[in-house]
Amino acid sequence: MRRFRILTGLVLVAFCLFSCNKPGGETPGGKTPDIEKGEHLADVTYQVNVYSFADSDGDGWGDLKGVAQHLDYFESLGVSALWLSPVQDAMSYHGYNVKDYSAINPKLGTEADFKDLISKAKAKGIGIYMDYVLNHSGSENAWFQSACSDPSSPYRDYYVLSENPSADVAAGKIDNYGGSKTPGMGQWYPASGGNLGYNGFLHFKLDVSNASQPKLTVTQSSGPAQGSNSDSSVKWFIYENNPFRMYKTGGNVYEITLFVNNTWGVLVKDDPDEWGNHKWGAKSGDQVVEFGKAKTLVKGDAANDLTFGGTNLQYFASFDRSMPDLNYGPYATASESAAFKDLAASADKWIKMGVAGLRLDAVIWIYQNQTAANVAFLKQWYERCNTTWKANGGQGDFYMVGEAWCDNAEAMAPYYQGLPSNFNFYYWYTLKDRINKAKGNDFAKTVLYFRNLFQAQRPGFIDAIKLTNHDEDRAAEDLGKSLEKEKLAAAVLLTSPGKPYIYQGEELGYWGNKGGGDEYVRAPIKWTKDGPVPTAALDGKVDNAMLSAGISVEAQSADAASLLNVYRNFSQARNSYKALARGEMQEVSSSNNSVALWTMSCEGQTVLVAHNFGAGVVSVNVPGGGLSSDGILVSNGVVTANDTSLTLGAYASAVFAQ
Ligand code: MG
Repeated sequence: MRRFRILTGLVLVAFCLFSCNKPGGETPGGKTPDIEKGEHLADVTYQVNVYSFADSDGDGWGDLKGVAQHLDYFESLGVSALWLSPVQDAMSYHGYNVKDYSAINPKLGTEADFKDLISKAKAKGIGIYMDYVLNHSGSENAWFQSACSDPSSPYRDYYVLSENPSADVAAGKIDNYGGSKTPGMGQWYPASGGNLGYNGFLHFKLDVSNASQPKLTVTQSSGPAQGSNSDSSVKWFIYENNPFRMYKTGGNVYEITLFVNNTWGVLVKDDPDEWGNHKWGAKSGDQVVEFGKAKTLVKGDAANDLTFGGTNLQYFASFDRSMPDLNYGPYATASESAAFKDLAASADKWIKMGVAGLRLDAVIWIYQNQTAANVAFLKQWYERCNTTWKANGGQGDFYMVGEAWCDNAEAMAPYYQGLPSNFNFYYWYTLKDRINKAKGNDFAKTVLYFRNLFQAQRPGFIDAIKLTNHDEDRAAEDLGKSLEKEKLAAAVLLTSPGKPYIYQGEELGYWGNKGGGDEYVRAPIKWTKDGPVPTAALDGKVDNAMLSAGISVEAQSADAASLLNVYRNFSQARNSYKALARGEMQEVSSSNNSVALWTMSCEGQTVLVAHNFGAGVVSVNVPGGGLSSDGILVSNGVVTANDTSLTLGAYASAVFAQ
C-alpha cells in the first residue's frame, strides 16, 4: 500500500544548506575518537515498546521501572532520547486506544514511576518522548461512553457522530472529512444509546417463507439460552461472535434463544463458515432492531449489523470499531474545539512534568488524508505545545515528530509545514531496495533528494530517519536475515544526515513479520542468555526460536563483532564527530555501482563515508585521495585504504578523517 515509488529522472542537487551550528566535537585526525561526555551530538533516538522491553516486577509485562532500570543500555548505544509506546491508560497492550489521556496505564506502572523515569533519564542526558494519539481515542474512553449514551453529553462534539451519515456527508457537515465527500479510510459503526450491542437474553424467530426476503423478529427473553442445534440439515444461524444453528419450529420458521453479550449486535447467516452472500442483515440506515417487530433482511454487501437501541446514532472510525475518530470541527479553527482543548490540557500536564517531545500517531487520518486540513491542524497543535514548553523553561523549540505515512516522500513533504520533524519511511524503502540490489552509488543522491524536498517546506527540518518500526516487518526480514546486510544497514543509518531512530530489537537482529500478528514485530528484549522475557502483553505470540541465548544482549555484548556492537561503535563515532552527527552531506562520485560515497562537513570538519552495498570485494578511486588505514574513525568489515585507493570487503563500511 505504501510501496516506494522508484525515483527516476530527478534533477539532483549536489548538496543542501543545513545548519550545524551547535558547539562541540573533535577534529578527526587519526586519533582515538574522544567522545564528548555529557553531550549527545548524534541525536540518536531509541523506540521502546514499554510493554515488552523490560519487566521490573515479574508480572510478565514490561513496565516503566523496567525502562528506568536499563538506562545504561541506552547510554551504551549513544542514545539521547527514548520514544515510548503509548503509556496512557488504554484498552489494549499496544496502547493506541486511549481510555484516559491524563492517566498512566496501571499495567505499565504509576505516575510516580513515569516521573522517576523522566528524572533519571534526564540526569543521563536522555529525553523522553511520549506517543500521542490524536486521531482517535479508545471506545472505552469515558468521553465516548458519555457521548453515545447521553444526547445532552458535553462530549458529543468530541466524536464524529451522526444519525444519518450519508445525508450529513452529502451536506458537508462532517468536518472530519476535511472537505472531501469520502473518507480516505474507515467506516461508520452503530453507537446505539451507548450500548453498541446487547447484554442479555434474546429470542430470535426467522421466517423464510419468502427465501429472498427473510423476516427476523427479536424479542427480549428471560432465558435460558439454547445451545447450537446439532441438526446439520438446518442451514440458518444467528451469528453473535460465533454462529449458533437455529431450531426448526415450523414449515419455514426457525427459532433460538441466546445470551447476547457484545458491542456490535448480531447477523443472520445461512452457512456457519462462509460470509459473502451467506451473510444476512439490516439495510443501511435501518439497523436498529425494534423488539417484537419483524425486520426484512437483505444479504451480502448490503447487509449491516442488526443493533439494539433506541437511536440510529453512528460514529466514524478510521481504523476499527474500538477506535472512534476524534472530532476537532472545521480545521481552520480546530484549536477552538472542545476536544482539542481537552487533549491540549493533557499534553500540558506531561510537558510540565518534563516530557521532552511528542510522537504523533497517524496524523494523515486526523482529517482523512486531506493534507492541507491536517497541516492546518498540526500547526495549531504544535504551537500550543511549543508555547507550553517555552513557558516552562524548555530550551529551543519543542520536539515533535509526525507519523505522516504517505505513499511517497513527495506527498509527505508538506507535513513539514505543520511539524518540525517527520518519519522518513522512504529512507528505509530506498536503503533496503539498494542493499538487496547491491547498488550503492545512487544512495547519497536519493537521500539528498529527500532532504531538498523537506528543506523546501521547512528550513531547519529534522529528518527522522529509521529502518523499521512497530508497524512494519522487521528490517532483518526485509534483508533476508543476512547479518552482514543488517550490519551494513546499521552503519548506513548512523552515518546518514538526520535524526536516526533505532527500533527495539533491531540492534539485536530481530526478525519477524506481521503475517501472524503485529506482536511478532514487537518482541521483548532478551537481556540475558537464560533469563525470562516479558511476553504477557503479547499473548504468547513470541518467536521463541528467535529469542535464543545467542541473540541476547549478554551474548552480543561479549562479541566484538556482533550487530549490537556495530550499533554501539557507529553511534559512538556519531557522538564524537560533529561532521558525522550534523554535517552537511555531499555526494562523492563512486566508480563502482555497489559503493556509496559521501562526505559530511560541519564547521570546517569533514569526514568521508564509504559503504559497500554488495557481497564482493571492491576497490574504488576516491577523488582527492589522502586516505590511509590510520585515518579510519570507525569501520565494519574489511577496509583498507592507500591515498586514492579504497578497498571494501563484502558489506563493509568505514568513516575516514579528511
Ligand atoms: Mg511488569
